[in-house]
Amino acid sequence: MDTDAHVLVAGAGGIGCPATWALAASGVRRVTVLDPDVVERSNLPRQVWFREADLGRSKARLAAARMDAHVFAGGVHARLDDRSAASLLEDVDVIVDATDGAQVKDWINQLAVRRGVPLVHAAGLRSEARLMRVAASGRPCLACLFGRLEEETGSCADLGVWNGVVGTVGFLAAHRALSGRDGTGYAVLDFETGRALDLAAGAAADCPVCGTPAEVEPYPADAACAVPTAGGGATLPEASAQLDLREEQCPLNLLRARRRLSEMPAGEVLAIALGAEGAATVPDGVRALGHRVLAEEPRGEGLDLLVASAGARDDSSLSGEDLQRFARQVVLPEVGEAGQRRLGAARVRLLGSGHAWRSARTYLRAAGVGYVAAEGEADLVAWAGGTEPLADVRADVALVEDGDGVRATSESSDALLGAHDAPPAVALAWGTLLADLVQRRIVLGDAAPTRTFAIDGDGDVR
Ligand SMILES: [Zn+2]
Repeated sequence: MDTDAHVLVAGAGGIGCPATWALAASGVRRVTVLDPDVVERSNLPRQVWFREADLGRSKARLAAARMDAHVFAGGVHARLDDRSAASLLEDVDVIVDATDGAQVKDWINQLAVRRGVPLVHAAGLRSEARLMRVAASGRPCLACLFGRLEEETGSCADLGVWNGVVGTVGFLAAHRALSGRDGTGYAVLDFETGRALDLAAGAAADCPVCGTPAEVEPYPADAACAVPTAGGGATLPEASAQLDLREEQCPLNLLRARRRLSEMPAGEVLAIALGAEGAATVPDGVRALGHRVLAEEPRGEGLDLLVASAGARDDSSLSGEDLQRFARQVVLPEVGEAGQRRLGAARVRLLGSGHAWRSARTYLRAAGVGYVAAEGEADLVAWAGGTEPLADVRADVALVEDGDGVRATSESSDALLGAHDAPPAVALAWGTLLADLVQRRIVLGDAAPTRTFAIDGDGDVR
């Protein structure tokens, strides 16, 4: 554990917040956190440094200010790009890539490889997280595995994420930054099935980044949203209602379209006017819920859409403010407004102390769980929904579900390892994994995963 390292965290969002939290908890003394954005309401369920009162303020400066007082943390309200890289990387020992967007991650990979700075790559989307440490030698690098990455143009629904997914990978990214262990492979954590893969990562001889000496390419211009797709042409039924979403942003445009369609009787037709953002994402997003897109008529950068409702698909029960706040959770097809309402109604009692307890409580609260009470210095115990135990787990061991419910087990059966023996970043990741498990139990009931991957004391997943 190298606490003298100077760690640069690129991005103070869903991954950067837990990463900087873990760095501070680990006793790292020098951290630079970079982010060009300000706090928005829809950030609050994942970006756990920030509160309602922080809306509109610089994420980087807030994150730096909230780290432990013993950390010499600098918050830079800028992104890592051509102009900022030279000065920012001067004495940096390791970079944590906590940005989102494939193109930016690709660029940071080549920047780290060309400059010989170790890089921890971390990503999280929907129910999946990915993690890789690239050595100072630059080999193997991200491009060895995936080639050059381009901006993905997925559905708006792809913007959804469970907060425990980004939380867990953020804590683990900090651990990998400090562990100094290279060659740990490319980890894929699937929270939906509870499985983790650690893929062997080999250096590609013809890798376009680490296989050839070259200059760092210019920072990519901000990727625009996807191009609208044309369609339609048949004889169309009349719309019985109109919805103008030209000014609405992603993913709220999709959420508002979904809500309106689910309020209409099955078969009725809604005409939706979309701007460029919505044009790229809303058609697939409403199809995912079973509504039928009858026509897509491009209009400049935007799109006019005719959609036949499949009838009620979700309860429209959240206030406008909650819809905005929890947009990235509600947009997940398996959560929706009904799932978010279940989270709000749930009562979770969390017993314990220490890092795992703190992160579990933080992520449950941030996700909108209605009531999180803490009590005692005992093992971590969590349950929801009245008197039925939901999960009874110890904070310091892997979380596994068996016939009796969610239990904690370790390699040596039920033996306690002692939460305080684990590195703080690992204990923080355990708590977040518990929070994810509890949330899935609340939202999905019996459809929740029946097992979860384990994170061992070295922070490795299996
Ligand atoms: Zn490579």
